[in-house]
Amino acid sequence: MRYISTRGQAPVLTFEEAMMTGLARDGGLYVPETVPVLSPDEIAAMAGLSYEDVALRVMRPFIGDTFTEAEFRGLIARAYAVFGHAARAPLVQLGPNDFLLELFHGPTLAFKDFAMQLIGQLFQAALARSGQRITIVGATSGDTGSAAIEAFRGLKNVDVFILYPHGRISEVQRRQMTTPSEANVHALAMDGDFDDCQAILKDMFNDFAFRDGVRLAGVNSINWARVLAQVVYYFTAAVSLGAPHRPVSFTVPTGNFGDVFAGYIAKRMGLPIDRLVIATNQNDILHRTMQTGRQVKEGVRPSISPSMDIQVSSNFERALFDAYGRDGAVVAAQMEDLKDRGGFTISQGAHEWLGAQFASGRASEEETAATIRAAWATTGELLCPHSAVGVHVAKAFLGSVPMITLATAHPAKFPDAVEAATGFRPPLPSRMADLYERSERVTRVPNDLTALQSLIRERITH
Ligand SMILES: *Cc1c(COP(=O)(O)O)cnc(C)c1O
Repeated sequence: MRYISTRGQAPVLTFEEAMMTGLARDGGLYVPETVPVLSPDEIAAMAGLSYEDVALRVMRPFIGDTFTEAEFRGLIARAYAVFGHAARAPLVQLGPNDFLLELFHGPTLAFKDFAMQLIGQLFQAALARSGQRITIVGATSGDTGSAAIEAFRGLKNVDVFILYPHGRISEVQRRQMTTPSEANVHALAMDGDFDDCQAILKDMFNDFAFRDGVRLAGVNSINWARVLAQVVYYFTAAVSLGAPHRPVSFTVPTGNFGDVFAGYIAKRMGLPIDRLVIATNQNDILHRTMQTGRQVKEGVRPSISPSMDIQVSSNFERALFDAYGRDGAVVAAQMEDLKDRGGFTISQGAHEWLGAQFASGRASEEETAATIRAAWATTGELLCPHSAVGVHVAKAFLGSVPMITLATAHPAKFPDAVEAATGFRPPLPSRMADLYERSERVTRVPNDLTALQSLIRERITH
């Protein structure tokens, strides 16, 4: 299996190389050259298997000879052993043909753990083999950072630096990043919003002297291995509701488009997905793009679902690449326009293609809060605000096909929003109940590339 860049100008890589590289050197994102298709029989045979067994069957065709099957099986087992639920991704029912996929039973209580715990294992195995050291720098709207720190804390050959927008994440999110005491963990609170953090991270990757000097590696969802890990739960959920014999639909609370893109890959692999719905909060650039065919950046408006407070949705580039028949030059030109002119217009053909793959909707702040309140009253299920955005948007698509909304975080990660809507303050699971007592360690940093680069060079522990 070989990986190519969405901008067509970077070297073709193996799975291991694409995983260790993150962003392609032409500024693009890596995607598999072809998507393997599983037969209906192969999908049907997943019924009743453990999450880990399905994970092996879904991901195996993508990893080439980076790991042997036995090795890969062991890494998957270790990645998910730390989860607080035996099913890993349990499905619960909210109403007729209306389901919720709980993706928040990992160590940092958000779906990011599914990919990050696995990436931690894959990186460790690859680095142990090569003897190399790397510097991971990540940008986070709150959940990627804590998941990355949890996955890489204390590892010998890795330093992990996480940039988060100062003052714009929840206290639980912040504490999960600032309380680990290992010397290789560096939480950086940056002045600006998440788009600023992500932009400066891309600038670091595009500074090849710095990139090679510190052996920079990326764990944001621009990293293909993360998207791949997220394909798995689309299969486990759909199969448990009768796929491949019965189609299902998914609604995905969306920010950087990584999670919903994983759903698209599942569909390309042969999973019968009827509708794949993009759900946005009031930062609705993706919903507007789907409606108008124009992607135009506006300012980020902070919301009660902060992990989705994004305007520049990196992984959308991967969908655009397919929408343009894999023409990297067109994608590169549109991404230039987004960066330099604040927007671009999608061709009519590509817009129609996107409309055939994805539906979309948005939830206002009031609708999000009302959805949390209604789900609590009618089902006893406490939704985090991101999951509530999904459940609200999914309502318009309920019908004869089962709808599965992805519950992306645990309600206790956003207790203020949940309490405001329901009057009930969700407690942290007992395994992390002392989070509010642990001492914090964080560095305030300016939105300045040079300053950040020198800080990283000084802090590296190897
Ligand atoms: C990251 C995140 C999202 C958005 O996921 P993307 O893959 O960036 O689209 C939604 N909800 C929560 C809780 C998240 O942490």
